[in-house]
Amino acid sequence: MTDCIFCKIISKTIPADIVFENDNMLAFKDIHPQYPVHLLLIPKIHIKSLEEVSAQNANLIQEMLLTLPKIAKENGLLEGFRTVLNTGAGGGQEVDHIHFHLIGDVRHKIK
Ligand code: AMP
Ligand code: ZN
Repeated sequence: MTDCIFCKIISKTIPADIVFENDNMLAFKDIHPQYPVHLLLIPKIHIKSLEEVSAQNANLIQEMLLTLPKIAKENGLLEGFRTVLNTGAGGGQEVDHIHFHLIGDVRHKIK
């Protein structure tokens, strides 16, 4: 999807502060961080939201879930972290390319 901002980050058409990348997914710093550590983890294929996850692509979501703790630790979140997945306009989703927010405070002060 050419007008998707996250697809443009994947194709390196627009820059991002990338903290993790493999063949299937990419993690980068949120441009408007709400916490001391605020990352976004996205799949490299364009899946609009959780409502478009199916048996065909659920393995990718599984891989993302299994990778989140490693990315958290590598970014200083040694005592835990929060994940947020907004779905649709009613769920506060602003970018229509599925993404996990990975957020936390290295001083573990999430309230
Ligand atoms: P959501 O409301 O769940 O769709 O979250 C979208 C997130 O993407 C917001 O926290 C934005 O700050 C973030 N965001 C939007 N554009 C960019 C960008 N170019 N680079 C990094 N983060 C972005
Ligand atoms: Zn996309």
